[in-house]
Amino acid sequence: ASVLCYGGYQVMTGTLTAGGLVAFYGYTLQLFIPLYGAGDIYSKLQRAGASIRRLMEITEAEMILRDRPGALALRPNASAAIELKNVAFSYRVDRPVLNGINLRVAPGQRVALSGRSGNGKSTIARLVARLYDTHDGAVLVDGIDVRDIQLQSLRSSIIFVPQDPVLFDTTLRENLRFGNHQATQEELERVAKLAQLENLILRLPKGWDEQLGPRGNRLSGGERQRLVIARALLRRPSLLILDEATAALDAEG
Ligand code: ATP
Repeated sequence: ASVLCYGGYQVMTGTLTAGGLVAFYGYTLQLFIPLYGAGDIYSKLQRAGASIRRLMEITEAEMILRDRPGALALRPNASAAIELKNVAFSYRVDRPVLNGINLRVAPGQRVALSGRSGNGKSTIARLVARLYDTHDGAVLVDGIDVRDIQLQSLRSSIIFVPQDPVLFDTTLRENLRFGNHQATQEELERVAKLAQLENLILRLPKGWDEQLGPRGNRLSGGERQRLVIARALLRRPSLLILDEATAALDAEG
């Protein structure tokens, strides 16, 4: 605006020609384009820096739950028994969530926990997967206190499927293989059939190679949940915990 006002005044007083003003104005604009670009690069660098800092925080974080000396490994691929013995737990000292919980689940048995929202169902599942340690009592998997089981062995034997499926911006095949990178196409097809994904794969223009978009947003809520369940089955877990992982499925699902 200043260039145009001052240049216009100079054209009126005859110190500058109209052509000179147009050329000067054009060069001024050309000067600003790379300046805007530099500003954009700076803001992208700032965002990249913040992402790197957050990644470092994750990689450098200290594990709160650690393996005890002499921790054992679970039998791989065998159905696991669970036992909760007089379990007590709270997230905050002043608000107990579980108290005196006893529960036995035999190998191969299916158990559904139902109850009021917020009464601790997911918390029981988190304690079994040892995302937290109990404050009192014990959680046993296959007769061993979870605190005496190697965390890596426990986490690879137990699959916890949360209500909000975590999917990535890649193909359907890659999203499924995230459960087991060595899985063959036959295994992928087996779990896709079990999770009733076959019709979806036939319907997608690129089938197995369809890109699912950020967080899998090109699929419906129910389709995302089926995919995450199929991914869990691909790991052949000893114990499968579904935390309302079927909330978006229809009656057939
Ligand atoms: P819903 O059926 O709604 O999923 P739920 O029975 O699974 O509920 P939990 O998720 O186990 O309930 O939560 C039990 C209680 O613990 C709730 O009162 C909840 O507010 C609280 N809670 C859950 N997670 C945390 C957390 N990370 N920090 C603090 N409090 C929590």
